[in-house]
Amino acid sequence: MTIVFITEKGDCWHTRRDCHGLVGGQMSSESVGREPRAIDEVELSAAVAAGKKACGVTTCAGATS
Ligand SMILES: [Zn+2]
Repeated sequence: MTIVFITEKGDCWHTRRDCHGLVGGQMSSESVGREPRAIDEVELSAAVAAGKKACGVTTCAGATS
């Protein structure tokens, strides 16, 4: 089983909690004065079932294959 990181509003799943695609989204949401997004750990199959796509950052989603 593969655990990935997602946010509720995010389009992608991430293999790294420190992925800049994930962290960058959090920073932009903070910069406009909203609550930081909660990062959820879910099984990859659950993330895909929720409609999430593989992160485009090569050090993130690409690292598993
Ligand atoms: Zn990522």
